[in-house]
Amino acid sequence: MHPNLSADLARLPELLDSARRHAVEVLSGLADRPVAVPPEPPEPTPLPDAGAGAAAALERFQNRWAPGFSGSAGPRYLGFVTGGATPAAVAGDWLTSAFDQNAVTGSDSSALDLEREAVGWLRELFGLSTAHAGAFVTGATMSNFVGLAIAREWAGERLGISVSQDGVAALGNLPVLSGSPHSSAYKALAMLGLGRGCVREVATLPEREAVDVDRLTAELTALDGRPAVVVANAGTVNTVDFDDLRAISALRQRYPFWLHVDAAFGGFAALSPQHADLVAGLDEADSVCVDLHKWLNVPYDSAIQFTRRRDLQLRIFQNSAAYLGMPTDNPDFVHLTPESSRRLRALPAWFTLAAYGQQGHREVVERDVALARDLGDRIAEMPHLRLLAAVRFNVVCFTLTEAPTAERVAALARTVTESGVAFLTPTVYKGTPGLRAAFSNWRTTDADVVRVADVLRAA
Ligand SMILES: *Cc1c(COP(=O)(O)O)cnc(C)c1O
Repeated sequence: MHPNLSADLARLPELLDSARRHAVEVLSGLADRPVAVPPEPPEPTPLPDAGAGAAAALERFQNRWAPGFSGSAGPRYLGFVTGGATPAAVAGDWLTSAFDQNAVTGSDSSALDLEREAVGWLRELFGLSTAHAGAFVTGATMSNFVGLAIAREWAGERLGISVSQDGVAALGNLPVLSGSPHSSAYKALAMLGLGRGCVREVATLPEREAVDVDRLTAELTALDGRPAVVVANAGTVNTVDFDDLRAISALRQRYPFWLHVDAAFGGFAALSPQHADLVAGLDEADSVCVDLHKWLNVPYDSAIQFTRRRDLQLRIFQNSAAYLGMPTDNPDFVHLTPESSRRLRALPAWFTLAAYGQQGHREVVERDVALARDLGDRIAEMPHLRLLAAVRFNVVCFTLTEAPTAERVAALARTVTESGVAFLTPTVYKGTPGLRAAFSNWRTTDADVVRVADVLRAA
């Protein structure tokens, strides 16, 4: 054994203790460190020959890299849609590494059964029936990818072919209809060989990002019985608008289409009785995408994919080999997701649900929504800023009152970042450049909103 390895093995408890101390320091300092550090990469160093041992590696990391890491797990990182990690989720994530299970087959470990339990809990959390089977993937992009892969297989089935067997050329063009699709849907379609060009953006309602169901109906009628895919959006990134899932789902009585719902973060509306109506009809979907590293506040990377057609999912993702075993009635995850070997990313999700339950996570969702509304109210009162849309849920989308050019909005974003107090990301909403403040962190409080508002007022 390499001497550094044997020395580290002998000192493992001390080593993990130093890493733990560093992690505790980082987490307890989160609220005070600059929220987003503009990156300045340090000078590259050559590949170590002998290596310095883990204690020295930790020290080097602390000195050379850690100061440049963002406070993205903290309460005022409001860019993109970014979750933190609850205490239980961090503990669960550490143990995921310590146990280092390969959640691929169930022949040697109960890890897959833990994943099945976590899937069942999440299904209930999002109000889905047991008709939906689920599996963990790395993020909403992969969850959309899997859902759209199953959609593609379904379209093949309608036309009497198997895309997973015969290839996507046998299928020809597959129209994908959506009002305000997330960029990751295009990415997934590119990876699936269906092409970004297969998306037909359907008109949205006036002043909204939700699809106009009448226009969608007209597009479906024009397809004249050809199978299609509808990507419904439950929570758009600019204004967190929701398609009318019940109305869209009802159209399936008249038109053959696969209903995929991108509920990456909007799915969490289901946790709050006051907002659950926004996702009414979610259970009707053929496939559903929900991100977990956003609003469930588990560490990256984690998302879940649900579908009513596990049989089709199995056709696509099966990885049959003598040594892996053949898929059974209760297939191992190796046969259900793009990965074969895979991290037990169910464990942090299991931990946070075991620790805080439905109530704890509901409180996070409701608090974040209230905080977004509060920031929206404060911005509405600032003469130099204006809301680009009413705050519908957990995102505030706003811009400069005067001359909101991309340059001036970028300068505002820079001022906020350089203050160290908060991090917001730019967008374009209905042609107007603006900024988004997205609330999905469990740590954020009223005091944080006051600080963010102060920085915006002064900017
Ligand atoms: C974040 C997001 C995605 C992509 O999620 P990743 O976790 O980054 O892969 C897809 N759809 C929506 C609506 C999102 O908000």
